[in-house]
Amino acid sequence: MIIQMPDKTHASSIAEIDLRALGNNLRQVRAQIGERDILAVIKANAYGHGAVRVARYLVESKIKTVLLGVAFLEEAIVLREGGITGPIVLMTGAPLDQIDTIVYHRFTPVVYDAASLHALSRSASAAGQRLSIHVKIDTGMGRLGLPSSEALPFIREAVSQSGIRVEGILTHFAHPDLNDKSFTQQQLESIQSLRSELKEEGIEIPYCHLANSSAVMHYEPAYLNLVRPGLMLYGYSPIEKDASFPLKPVMQVKARVLSIKKVASGTSISYGRTYFTQRESRIATVAFGYADGYPVRLSNRGTMIAKGRIVPVVGRVCMDMTMLDVTNVPSLNVGDWVTVIGAEGDSMVWASRLARWAGTHPYEILCGIGPRVQRRYLP
Ligand SMILES: *Cc1c(COP(=O)(O)O)cnc(C)c1O
Repeated sequence: MIIQMPDKTHASSIAEIDLRALGNNLRQVRAQIGERDILAVIKANAYGHGAVRVARYLVESKIKTVLLGVAFLEEAIVLREGGITGPIVLMTGAPLDQIDTIVYHRFTPVVYDAASLHALSRSASAAGQRLSIHVKIDTGMGRLGLPSSEALPFIREAVSQSGIRVEGILTHFAHPDLNDKSFTQQQLESIQSLRSELKEEGIEIPYCHLANSSAVMHYEPAYLNLVRPGLMLYGYSPIEKDASFPLKPVMQVKARVLSIKKVASGTSISYGRTYFTQRESRIATVAFGYADGYPVRLSNRGTMIAKGRIVPVVGRVCMDMTMLDVTNVPSLNVGDWVTVIGAEGDSMVWASRLARWAGTHPYEILCGIGPRVQRRYLP
């Protein structure tokens, strides 16, 4: 049986976002962490799923998400304009030319340099506010954050600022798949020792956090009092072939068949003539290409689902289109929909599998689903 397709008038491709699946995955987080708090990571348009809709769903859920996390100011503004009034953490920091806007919207920036700290405090004080910030420590990621050795004096300075409330300290794991447990443990130990030094000095900071999805799923010591999952909310594990959690992929992607043609054996398909038919074949051209997020690496490698059957990608993936060998699916017609990511009955092609074939991870596949792909939300 083919699953019922929604109305797709005027769409060439759609991404169906199943918010109940998001709810299921959020319950999985809650079941793992008990009463601790959740910072839901919805950067990059909620990993391609649509940040405003995802945020609204999370905010309205019975399972409480105390904080939402995005990468950049412009993402946070989109959320405010979409009616999200609660705390939003800016996870890449507070550039000096954005300080007043951050204060105006009461966003919660991650801070790791003195210039931002002082500018935030001045701006917040002038507005008669106390702005919450989280101080970021680099314990081994080599990206953002203060070196552990500078953390303590910096936090002392931060808590003394009249416009600032230090709500959290955080760090980030260098192994999103926990591939090196001993390095992961070192990173945990360095944030924990900072936490106890702060306690000894009588500096009380509500949150200390570092647990991303893989830690939520497989590394309980890192939960502390707040966890920061992203990918697992959308139904995937950061660890390859990890089926230890009943996560449900939230997004299914479908594309329309633009053309079907019968071609002789020995016909070349697409740019570069990298594929030649081995028999008389039916070739479908579907409206989904690399501009929509289908990696060129899936040329002659990926599969889609047509009328419930797995069919191979043939030839090079183009910008707007991809060709499929649908010789074995005689009932497929022009105007029908094929599944690019998702399941039809027992046939499945999830982002994790596409990622493996394309030499990447599911994060990149999900975030890569382009703006041309219409998002539709299932209640
Ligand atoms: C993206 C991100 C996360 C979420 O990571 P997942 O692996 O998707 O769970 C958490 N913290 C920070 C700082 C991030 O940038």
